Amino acid sequence: MSDYEPIIGLEIHVELKTLSKMFCGCPADHFGKEPNTQTCPVCLGLPGALPVPNSKAVDWTMLLGLALNCQINEESKFDRKNYFYPDLPKGYQISQYDQPIAINGALELGIIRVQPLRVRIRRVHIEEDTGKLIHETINSERVALVDFNRSGVPLVEIVTEPDFHTVEDVDIYVKKIQRIVRYLGISDADMEKGTMRLEPSISLRMVGEQSLPEYRVEIKNINSFRFVRKALEYEIKRQAEILISGQTPIQETRGWSEAKNATLGQRGKEEASDYRYFPEPDIPPMRFTTDQVAKIKSQIPELPDDKLGRFVRDYGLSETDAGLITEIKERAAFFETTLDSGNQYIKSGQLTVKHVANWLINKKIDISQVTPEELLKQVVAATTVTAVTEGELSKVIMQVVSDNSKAVMDYKSGKEAALMFLLGMCIKVLKGAGDKGLILAKLKEKLQK
Ligand code: ZN
Ligand code: MN
Repeated sequence: MSDYEPIIGLEIHVELKTLSKMFCGCPADHFGKEPNTQTCPVCLGLPGALPVPNSKAVDWTMLLGLALNCQINEESKFDRKNYFYPDLPKGYQISQYDQPIAINGALELGIIRVQPLRVRIRRVHIEEDTGKLIHETINSERVALVDFNRSGVPLVEIVTEPDFHTVEDVDIYVKKIQRIVRYLGISDADMEKGTMRLEPSISLRMVGEQSLPEYRVEIKNINSFRFVRKALEYEIKRQAEILISGQTPIQETRGWSEAKNATLGQRGKEEASDYRYFPEPDIPPMRFTTDQVAKIKSQIPELPDDKLGRFVRDYGLSETDAGLITEIKERAAFFETTLDSGNQYIKSGQLTVKHVANWLINKKIDISQVTPEELLKQVVAATTVTAVTEGELSKVIMQVVSDNSKAVMDYKSGKEAALMFLLGMCIKVLKGAGDKGLILAKLKEKLQK
């Protein structure tokens, strides 16, 4: 099996959190809403209804494209992607074919690896989401119901070149995209709610071969980080077995079945020609000026990797700690506000940046429950040590040692745990005052006598 190397590409769909849908005024937030309550003639695909593009969704797609180092197509247009499925009321999806908003980007998976990998982004385009099929049993009959609340919700598609060769890199990439999208504030990118969905395609070739394999298997229905790993690992094994037996896996679309712990064949893989793409006649093409693009570009906030790098550089944090803090934009902002308000403690040496970082990470602080000022108080209280005079300390140690002769004997006979017990007793008597390390040293000294 190690003779084969996986070639993996990825399509990610992300639902934008605009107020209204892509081509009509219906609310885009459909999660948990009563079925078919957020629809209109446009998103129901009724005859004669005309689509009007959501300019915010177009801007946000461009914003994401720029954040992924893409070129913006000066001219962009919408196209109809024709196929039949009950959740697609028009019989076609308005998507983008040959003039997507953004092309030729790249994302470095560099920060926490020895060998950076540059993943090429083929394109970033905007389209509309479909409705949702709900399978139910009514009057002991299996039925499929359609909910069109999701129909027409803005959907961004991010497509990579087949640049991945390990499942780990796919995992890093997907999490990175999720973080970027959330930093940009354009989507919740929540896999469980389906606002972020993954479609890897995978094939295998002999190690050392340069050309792409003649087949490609696309995997649909993936809605968790765990499933994408499992599905890919399963496919690597399945395809290798077929290749070893001298055959070529068939080109097809498969679905991940969590129940069967396997991918299952769904249908032959479509070619672009199967969709009979043609320009959407109801929407004029778009043209972007350099000024427009520059304006959107200026709205890109500091992105996760840049923030992480800055936290390492400016605050002397480890990459792991900086990564944990910058994972969520709001947490990173909370951290910096805490440092700002604690400036005088840091200057006086009473508090270090590391103290604040540790407290935030190790105590799993819920930043929606405390203010930076409250957190600061906690950390200062915990790190401020009340001084204890040497005389006081030796008095306490003497007392503890004479009160706990059994523990002293245990320690002297080699039970290390007894030492911690005695230390605990000293701390208790001192009510938290004094430096722990110093108390321990003095205690040991006393016991050695
Ligand atoms: Zn509508
Ligand atoms: Mn798509």
